Amino acid sequence: MPVNSRTDSDGATEGETLPINELFYSLQGEGKLAGVPSVFVRTSGCNLRCWFCDSYHTSWEPTHAQMTLDEIVEEIQVHEKADHVVLTGGEPLIHTESATLLERLNELGYHTTVETNGTIQPGAPIDLASISPKLSSSTPTPERDPKGEGEWEDRHEESRIDMDALSGLVDRYESQLKFVVTGPDDLVEIEQILDRVRQATETNITDSDVLLMPEGTTRDELDERRNAVAELAMEHGYRYTPRLHVDLWNDAPGT
Ligand code: SF4
Repeated sequence: MPVNSRTDSDGATEGETLPINELFYSLQGEGKLAGVPSVFVRTSGCNLRCWFCDSYHTSWEPTHAQMTLDEIVEEIQVHEKADHVVLTGGEPLIHTESATLLERLNELGYHTTVETNGTIQPGAPIDLASISPKLSSSTPTPERDPKGEGEWEDRHEESRIDMDALSGLVDRYESQLKFVVTGPDDLVEIEQILDRVRQATETNITDSDVLLMPEGTTRDELDERRNAVAELAMEHGYRYTPRLHVDLWNDAPGT
């Protein structure tokens, strides 16, 4: 259910609420669970501003409707075939109510994946933390800033890696580390971050827990990078992850 055309005042006001940009049923497009039918709950709002953000209307131009947790759970349950729920954004963990939603979904027996940029540690049950640390190539320099204002460059750069939060997520949850790759130069920084995370955690992070994902939100953009990133994965021993929702549906809303 796309809900991004509704305004705050359309939502119910009783009980805890979350700003929801989209809620829909699709296939998980990325990572270890690619291909698994899942309900996606996309919250609005993010503490970072990647220039290539593939959910622009949750970060640069956030739009949403406030939904109560009851409404969200009811909407999830409409999709009777789904036993996987993906809480995504934006950055869903900036909202304290996300923890309550995850607790409720856990009690109902859903498998939950949280897609996070790794800068916030939640206190909630999560079955798979899909952590996407942001590289310096994500920073919205003035020439890459989609708004052309350059106001987020420093804030994004200062906030994009929080090693305490990152290592805490890895130690607490089953996780995957998913890096958006814009080119071969990114691999140096990926390996530096991995070294730091491995030193900071007690968890054994295997190379198959590390996913390389080509940057691109259209089939044409992926066509330009897909094979190069697949070859980088083979060269370095990491896992390549597709973006099935782009390959199948060209990243149309609700997919
Ligand atoms: S962290 Fe994710 S949601 Fe936030 S700006 Fe970057 S890509 Fe977009």
